[in-house]
Amino acid sequence: MKKDGHTHTRFSHHGSQEPLDLYLERAIELGFTDYVVTEHAPLPDAFLAAYTGPRSQDDDSAMLASELTAYKAEVARVKEKYGNQIRIHQGFEVDYLPGYEAETKAFLQENANWIDEIVLSVHFLRNSSGLIGPIDYDTDQLKQFFPVELQNPQVLFNKYVTAVQQSIEFDTGLSTPVRIGHITLIRKFQKYFGFPDFDQENQRKITAILTSILAKGYELDVNAAGLRKEFCGESYPDAKILRQAVELQVPMTYGSDAHAVADLGLAYNELSTIINEK
Ligand SMILES: [Zn+2]
Ligand SMILES: [Zn+2]
Repeated sequence: MKKDGHTHTRFSHHGSQEPLDLYLERAIELGFTDYVVTEHAPLPDAFLAAYTGPRSQDDDSAMLASELTAYKAEVARVKEKYGNQIRIHQGFEVDYLPGYEAETKAFLQENANWIDEIVLSVHFLRNSSGLIGPIDYDTDQLKQFFPVELQNPQVLFNKYVTAVQQSIEFDTGLSTPVRIGHITLIRKFQKYFGFPDFDQENQRKITAILTSILAKGYELDVNAAGLRKEFCGESYPDAKILRQAVELQVPMTYGSDAHAVADLGLAYNELSTIINEK
């Protein structure tokens, strides 16, 4: 099996407008046998009403609730067209938003019959003034929302890995597989800010994330996206943490997190070599 467990479509708005057909044709060309379409699920209405951060080019960093039907139809269409060449799995990348668990769970319940797999990710944190800000939008937004935390990056890291741990404890109400997304996304702009390595406490928290994923019967998203970000240069998580996950026997699935056709397959061989080390 050669699987990409984390991919996007034009419904992200912040990625390419290429049709899903081109993604599937490229994945087939690269020899993938399994492909999970995991577009950003619509953000809860209450969250959007309270959110003061930037909105991506067109609308939001996620599909709009009004686009849900079109998204599902699009996935159904490519399944019909390419289903004899590659197994296409229906999914979402779902935001774990502290304080909005009930809305998120309601969305998952409403779509339970459609969902094959989900990636559960943290992209937003509450700052020291109580506002929710995006941690992966750009360096200016990170500075604007998290100036206090940036004075000591370990505080920022701690906030992120704590939210990731909470996401594992969140009751999705689903029996479908959950992959915990890009657990070190907080390092996306590490070269810009000159971030240090995780300190011992954060390393302990990351180990706890890995053991919790295992205990929950979840999977770790082995996310290649950081490798194509100019200020990151490593996978989420990096090779060292991946080796620790291998040692702990945490189930893992490669994810290109492709937002454009050209992103597919990035570092698949290198990352699968690491995660298949015994
Ligand atoms: Zn994500
Ligand atoms: Zn993603």
